[in-house]
Amino acid sequence: MGKPTGFLEIERRDRGYEKPAVRRKSWNEFVKPLPEPEVGKQAARCMDCGIPFCHNGCPVNNLIPDWNSLVYRDQWQTALRNLHSTNNFPEFTGRICPAPCEAACTLNIDDNPVTIKTIECAIVDKGWQEGWIEPFIAPHKTGKTVAVVGSGPAGMACAQQLARVGHSVTLFEKSDRVGGLLRYGIPDFKMEKWLIDRRVEQMAAEGVEFRTGVEIGVDVSAAAVIDAFDAVVMSGGAELPRDLEISGRELDGIHFAMDFLTQQNKRGAGDSEEHAAPDGTISAKGKHVVVIGGGDTGSDCIGTSVRQGAASITQLEIMPRPPEHEDKGLTWPDWPLKLRTSSSQEEGCERDWAVLTRRAIGSNGRIEALDCVRVEWVKDASGRLQMQDVAGSAFQLKADLVLLAMGFLGPRKPGMIEQSGATLDPRGNLRANTVDYRTSVAKLFAAGDMRRGQSLVVWAIREGRQCARAVDEFLMGTSTLPR
Ligand SMILES: Cc1cc2nc3c(=O)[nH]c(=O)nc-3n(C[C@H](O)[C@H](O)[C@H](O)COP(=O)(O)OP(=O)(O)OC[C@H]3O[C@@H](n4cnc5c(N)ncnc54)[C@H](O)[C@@H]3O)c2cc1C
Ligand code: SF4
Repeated sequence: MGKPTGFLEIERRDRGYEKPAVRRKSWNEFVKPLPEPEVGKQAARCMDCGIPFCHNGCPVNNLIPDWNSLVYRDQWQTALRNLHSTNNFPEFTGRICPAPCEAACTLNIDDNPVTIKTIECAIVDKGWQEGWIEPFIAPHKTGKTVAVVGSGPAGMACAQQLARVGHSVTLFEKSDRVGGLLRYGIPDFKMEKWLIDRRVEQMAAEGVEFRTGVEIGVDVSAAAVIDAFDAVVMSGGAELPRDLEISGRELDGIHFAMDFLTQQNKRGAGDSEEHAAPDGTISAKGKHVVVIGGGDTGSDCIGTSVRQGAASITQLEIMPRPPEHEDKGLTWPDWPLKLRTSSSQEEGCERDWAVLTRRAIGSNGRIEALDCVRVEWVKDASGRLQMQDVAGSAFQLKADLVLLAMGFLGPRKPGMIEQSGATLDPRGNLRANTVDYRTSVAKLFAAGDMRRGQSLVVWAIREGRQCARAVDEFLMGTSTLPR
């Protein structure tokens, strides 16, 4: 344990942000790391609970009290080894994880959890600075070949684990760069992309072969890949966006969030406009932007629109406004439903709740406004919440650009999935359990959002790691990889 009385003596202090006025002008990350001695003090607040709820709240089961104690004792390199034992890419989660561990921390009972995510990020950032993070090259090759299809966090974690136990791994990616939604989706200001490149370099040195610009199911058939490799992991994400089925949907200026966000990531990577936006530029500059959908993707659209110079930004959410504070007695240590304000929302947008978009209105084929109505959610006889229009509450919202960020309906089916013939679950994701990660097709495994549906980076890393173990067991009869 760190300092037994630490939690009584030391105030919680977390990383700060650059001021909105400053960060609105930059595409770079704006979170300011804590000085190293302060990180040690924050780690001292950990009570090393008998039942570490943080550890359970963390999808990769990070050994949080252990590395908190090590950081407090200035044993950073050991802390790094410990952190890497459960998480291949803590610099990704240390930046963009919503931190369910902190929600679960015992000290969150009075809203003062240990700054777990900040400590995690500090450990791994220091590890890179000190040169402690090197390729881990398998001492022996097994002679087995594995194809991993999709290079998001699930595919990257899976490929890295498999290469480290000596399999020859080829990671296929249909985009021109590796990283999945970390690369094309999550904006640079939340996570700069050189962080992915550095891991790609490490993985290449560990023997992973990267083949970008290859879509399995289009450029190479699913059957050819299944034939050519001893095992195949499908980790292609949940790419099918939920659409808005209203009249006027076809108007110019209504776009899926991902089309908008990907273009900006490509510009950030230095691509020409022709390459970044082959089907035409989607820009928020000078526009009245309406973002439909109140989640992470919606927030990323807001931050991107702010930086592009939108005239105004409004975010609509169909669900009612959540409470400012959760009822701890009911929710802790689970993830609570409460009002959250993201850094992007803080930079400038109007938020409106319990609003339904009914119709898109425009002229000359271009969007000009949205017809909306307020709704209330009432329980029906069976206790299920039903949406009802509030009488007389219809209103119109000026809109030159509408970004649809209403979630995802699972993986795209044409191409790899259809060709593979693998069974889907009732939600349209690939069916596979979390013990052996096998699909209904021999040699074919599934992990990440393609298996569990739209989720989080930390869950993708967990599934990639666990799936790697399942594949290793399938190929070798046994595995030394952690579950
Ligand atoms: C805009 C946005 C913001 C988000 N922000 C956060 C956040 O802040 N924190 C967080 O924890 N989570 C966030 N998420 C969720 C998180 O990004 C995903 O849960 C996570 O990336 C899923 O990882 P994955 O590896 O399963 O799939 P993905 O990251 O989706 O990667 C799948 C990859 O597979 C490739 N692919 C698909 N099919 C094929 C094929 N047939 N052949 C070759 N390649 C293929 C795709 O091109 C893609 O690169 C966000 C999601 C979005 C959309
Ligand atoms: S729940 Fe919080 S205080 Fe308890 S061990 Fe985990 S981080 Fe430390």
